[in-house]
This record gives sequence, C-alpha cells and structure tokens, in this order.
Amino acid sequence: MEELYHFINGKRIKGQSNNFGDVFNPATGDVIAKLPYANETELDNAVQGAKKAQLKWAVTSPQKRGRVMMEFVRLLNRDMERLAKCLSKEHGKTIPDARGDIQRGLEVVEFCIGAPHFLKGEFTDSAGTGIDMYSMRQPLGVVAGITPFNFPAMIPMWKFAPAIACGNAFILKPSERDPSVPLMLAELMVEAGLPKGILQVVNGDKIAVDAILNHPDITAIGFVGSTPIAQYIYTEGCRNGKRVQCFGGAKNHMIIMPDADLDQAVDALVGSGYGAAGERCMAISVAVPVGEKTADLLIEKLIPKVETLQVGPYTAGENMDFGPLITKEARERVLNLIDSGVKQGAMLKVDNRDFRMQGYENGFFVGAHLFDMVKPEMDIYKEEIFGPVLSTVRTESYQEALDLVMNNPYGNGTSIFTRDGDTARDFAHQINVGMVGINVPIPVPLAYHTFGGWKKSAFGDLNQHGPDAFRFYTKTKTVTSRWPSGIKEGAILNFPSIG
Ligand code: NAD
Repeated sequence: MEELYHFINGKRIKGQSNNFGDVFNPATGDVIAKLPYANETELDNAVQGAKKAQLKWAVTSPQKRGRVMMEFVRLLNRDMERLAKCLSKEHGKTIPDARGDIQRGLEVVEFCIGAPHFLKGEFTDSAGTGIDMYSMRQPLGVVAGITPFNFPAMIPMWKFAPAIACGNAFILKPSERDPSVPLMLAELMVEAGLPKGILQVVNGDKIAVDAILNHPDITAIGFVGSTPIAQYIYTEGCRNGKRVQCFGGAKNHMIIMPDADLDQAVDALVGSGYGAAGERCMAISVAVPVGEKTADLLIEKLIPKVETLQVGPYTAGENMDFGPLITKEARERVLNLIDSGVKQGAMLKVDNRDFRMQGYENGFFVGAHLFDMVKPEMDIYKEEIFGPVLSTVRTESYQEALDLVMNNPYGNGTSIFTRDGDTARDFAHQINVGMVGINVPIPVPLAYHTFGGWKKSAFGDLNQHGPDAFRFYTKTKTVTSRWPSGIKEGAILNFPSIG
C-alpha cells in the first residue's frame, strides 16, 4: 500500500511520528494509502525551513512572485486530468465536479498574478512642508492554512496562492481524508519556480493543528471546515496572538416565491442540493416555498427529477450526477439523520434508504432523499446534514420565509427565486447572510470578489480571496519622511498637526 509523506523544503519527507491514518477510496471502501500524521517536531521542522526561505521571498519583486503563479496556472491546466482523477479517487466526486474544484482554485491563482497591483501601497506627496507620507503592505512571515475534505484543490489554493503572492511562506495542513492533491499542488508550485520551503505541506490531525496553533513563529491562520472546529481554532489562535480567519459550516436556504419560474427553481434545487452528494458548504439544503400552491407544485416537479438522479463511482463515466460520501461514518450519520426526520414527522417524499451501489456494496454511497413538511425544530433542519438530502420548509408569506432564514444560526449562502424586482432587492438588502443569489442557486463569488459567510459560518475579519486576501496576508506600515533634511524649525513640543 502507498505510504504518503509530508512535503517540506521541496522534498517528500517520510513521517517520523509513527502515527498514521487511513486514506480511503470512498467508492469502494478500500484503504488506498497510509498518511503520516505529524507531531510537534515535524511541524517545527517545516516552520524553520519556511522561516529561512521567507526572508528572501519577502524581498523578491511582487511581479516575479506573480510570474510563479502564472507558470503554476499553466501547469494546472497541463495536469488537469491527472489531478481530477486523483481528487475523485480520494474524495468520491465525479470527474467533471473534480475539474470544477481545480478550476475554481486556479481562478484565484490567476487573480494572484495581479497581486502587485494590490501591494502598491499609498503615497501622499507634501503631507507637510517637505514631508511625504507613504504606506506599504508587507508580508506577515510564516502563515498557515488548515483545510477541509470537500474541496481538496480549491480551498488550499484559495489560501496559499494569495499568501505566497504577498511574500509569505505557507504551511498547509490539508484534510487527512484526501491529502494527495494538496501534495501534488505543492510539487507543481516548485516546478513553477517557487523557492523550496515557501510552501510546506504538513499532514496530520488535531496534534498537527494544535502544534500550528501554539507555534510562536506562525503569525496567521486561515481555516475552513466545520463550525465547532472553526470556533476552536479562532479562539485558540487569537488567544495566542495570531491573526485568524475561520470559515465554518452552513445551512443554505432557497426561497421560492409564487411568481418564480418553477422549472428554473427546480433545476437549481436539484443541482445545488445534490451536486457533490450535498457535500458543499454552498449546497442549498433547505427549499422554502412561499404559499401552499407553490409548495405543492414544487414537490410535484422535484420528485421525478430527484428519483432519477444517477449515483455512481467516478469511474462510471461523466454522466453520473454524484458519488459516495467521504467516509463510512459520514454515511451512517446522514442515514441516522434521515431516520430522525421520519421519526420527528417530516414527510420523506423520495426515500432511498435501502440504496446499495451494485458492485460497490462497501462504498459509502447514499441515494438522493427529499423531505417535505420539515419544521425548524427537527434535527434535519437544525443540523448541517452534508449529504444528498433536501428539506422543504413550507411558509405562508415572504415575511415568514425571510424570518426563517434570518433566524437560522448559519449565514453562508442563500438565494431567492422570483420575477419581482422589489422582492429580490428587499431580500438582498435585508438578509443577514454573506453570499446571496437572485435566481442563482450557488452564489459563489468569482476570484476577484470575496467569499465569506456571516453568523456561525465565519469567525474573524476579512473574507477569502478577492482584495480581502491581500489585506489578510499583509500588514500595513506607514512611513512619514522629510527631505530635504536641512529645514530648521526648532524643537516642536506640541503634537504635530497640519494647522
Ligand atoms: P472538519 O472541521 O472536520 O475538518 C477541517 C479541518 O480541521 C481538517 O484539516 C481537520 O484535520 C481539522 N480538524 C478536524 N477536527 C479537529 C480538531 N478536533 N481539532 C483540530 N483540528 C481539527 O471539516 P470537514 O469535515 O473536513 O469539512 C466539512 C465542513 O467544512 C462542513 O461543515 C462545511 O460546511 C465546511 N466548509 C465550509 C466552507 C466555507 O467556506 N464556509 C467551505 C468548505 C467547507
């Protein structure tokens, strides 16, 4: 069986801790690799290498750093199929979906080619007599990223590309479920011309994460994952004086108004609710039709579409709709939640609890499920299911639907389907959620805007990618200088001001 490694100072490094975890192929249930889990010493080795390399990288011109990103984009395109296949094998998503995962990361790398523009700083000529004032953005030093299983290419790139373009060195602790693509990305960065040591991949579990939280030379942490861990990392990281941004879980609602194009809304719900088996932080997991008639029609149109979704392994071809869940535990958890929904009185309109993937009986597959008559007090509403399960909460009015979304503790994404401009505008304006779609189901902002939720979906300041990323990964220094130095004003004891 393959034994994976860490990637430190440009080399594949065997694990030293003697602590290993299994990496599965979720479609077959087979263990396909052993992953070494780092201890404090291994993490420290990575940080020391990064610290040394960063001194030179910080004074490399931003344009040269941008050129590494440009070459990296070329290599990502060259290796797209190899990366997508490896990603699907460890994650389970279909090959077209894996390409999308890589592509949305690649787009942030493309954006980072333009980092010099954001790092220019500000300048005021003649702020006082002979005085100029300027601000510059300088890198933070060694920073770290801790990433989730569900986008093993995109989210690592969202983290390390802007950090590195800003002149930092980056320690990546990817998910222990699907670490191979992050390791391949780090090797491609070196092939693209990145100096060794600037991007280190340290694999592991809580021990490695705690070592990152406690390491005095790591100045900032970017985290993406579930809300309880996001909260933990935010609290501990801040307590240790680090700059921290943590993006957590979600429960995303789509309101369907009586005037909506229902066919469009149904397609949107099917794509965003069941794509990637519902394992997306921007998945729509709650449909909120307004009015009985809308709800009845919606359910009637949804049922045949959900019933005919094609579930299968990534090897079964490009017409599969979604694959297995990430682990056996995830599968059991989702099936238990579905049972709880039935027990608590929701109506299971599409029931695939006995679904078994023929020829892949040990795989972690769950068929598509559709609930109607879900109430906010039920566990299937309160929990982030992270599986192919769409819940329908019926409401009587726009205000009731709006209140439902407003009162939900999560605030990652939401959308509304309507033909009425007033309603759409009111929704976009009032809603306490970070990313909003109007007749768009997964409102994931493109690379040059920023991505981030509100409420329990994000902790800390500033969003991911877009201009915010360059703010997060740099600190500002402001210089006040006077030339020529020959001006003689005598000693001034009052606080300096422009009077
Ligand atoms: P997770 O929280 O289990 O793991 C995320 C990372 O934290 C991994 O690297 C893992 O090794 C580490 N980790 C896990 N338990 C830990 C612990 N006790 N102490 C320290 N570190 C720990 O999340 P996941 O299951 O990999 O990913 C799914 C979750 O991520 C979902 O909740 C999803 O909504 C969320 N997510 C959010 C966004 C966003 O931008 N808001 C994007 C993608 C995924």
